[in-house]
Amino acid sequence: MFSAWRNFPLWQKIMGGLVLGLVVGLVFGESAAMLKPLGDLFINMIKMLIVPLIFSSLVVGLASMDDMTKMSRVGGKTFLIYLMTTALAISIGLGLGSFLEPGVGISLEGAKAVSVKEAPPLIQTLLNIVPKNPVASLSSGNILQIIFFAIILGISINMAGEKAKPLAQLFEAIAEIMYKMTALVISFAPFGVFGLMAWVTSVYGLDVLVSLGKVVIGVYLGCLIHAFFVLGGSVFVLTKLNPLTFFKGILSAQTVAFTTTSSSGTLPVTMTCVQKELGVSKSVSSFVLPLGATINMDGTALYQGVCALFVAQAFGIELTFAQYGTIIMTSTLASIGTAGVPGAGLIMLSLVLTSVGLPLEGVAIIAGIDRILDMARTAVNVTGDAAVSVLIAKSENEIDENVYNGIGSAEDPSVQAA
Ligand code: ASP
Repeated sequence: MFSAWRNFPLWQKIMGGLVLGLVVGLVFGESAAMLKPLGDLFINMIKMLIVPLIFSSLVVGLASMDDMTKMSRVGGKTFLIYLMTTALAISIGLGLGSFLEPGVGISLEGAKAVSVKEAPPLIQTLLNIVPKNPVASLSSGNILQIIFFAIILGISINMAGEKAKPLAQLFEAIAEIMYKMTALVISFAPFGVFGLMAWVTSVYGLDVLVSLGKVVIGVYLGCLIHAFFVLGGSVFVLTKLNPLTFFKGILSAQTVAFTTTSSSGTLPVTMTCVQKELGVSKSVSSFVLPLGATINMDGTALYQGVCALFVAQAFGIELTFAQYGTIIMTSTLASIGTAGVPGAGLIMLSLVLTSVGLPLEGVAIIAGIDRILDMARTAVNVTGDAAVSVLIAKSENEIDENVYNGIGSAEDPSVQAA
């Protein structure tokens, strides 16, 4: 029996938890609410991960970027475009979340005493990102301050070079341990999702399903809009190359990303597509793509926009303008620290929700459908990396347009870029 359980992939177990929780909630009605502590346990475990996970993985990401100085020009440009496309993606997510209102109608606010904090003005939020005391930020879990300090620390370790190696290695070890701990916590997800779904449906019935359906529609629609209009559009406007050719060229990478839900795992395929089908030089693609697979997550950012609004609406919390700004900033910055592995965006979602004081119960509810959302967002993450590599290659004159347009192959020396 246990071995049969172990043989199922995690996402199937989580979906199973969702369906079972739903059935139990519907069948047993109010008494199923007693299963909620299972969900609370899962939420507490996610909370436990947030600070050490984000802190260590961000420091490692920036400390190990030795190409940063070597390729400062291309690196700077790439970084900037990555940040811009990510911010755009999350704005699309927020727009769709406001338009589709996935969380309106299930009002979970009775389930939790929600205190709506008076948000400080935007300028104060910006100033508050710089921690006066980083240790205090870590212990109080101030996400934006932690991200800021981790970025500065990572860059400084990088700049200090050889002497700072031991600290870099220590952070690498901590990050590795935190990835393992995350896997342990996530393996508990089927039970947590089961408990929360049983509780939610016992109290709110099938309305929850309609809401979750709207989240799926919001994320998929947003992914299509971002991929075609923002990414395809920038390829067209900034390089004058045919965007349809671009999409045709990266179709295999998108398919692999969609099915594996890991942009890091898809990297070899993305590399091949971008070099062989789109004619981007090796020097640009081998820098831009691995960097993108680690720090550029347009689909993930977009998903966070939709989900943050879902949670706010479901818990009846009116977000202020400054809180919208904070969501855009947190997910853009946090995406730097997210690994391109399945489900990483869900942990990041808890981080984004925490930054604006939204309840984490929402994460556990989303967890039940996360695999479906992960497929779309990972495909867009990979599309974003490929699009940026085309933009950078064009601006650096490192793209072979004959290969892009299918006139020659990348192996054909007569059509190699100059
Ligand atoms: N699975 C995504 C990726 O690998 C990350 C996420 O969970 O959003 O790109």
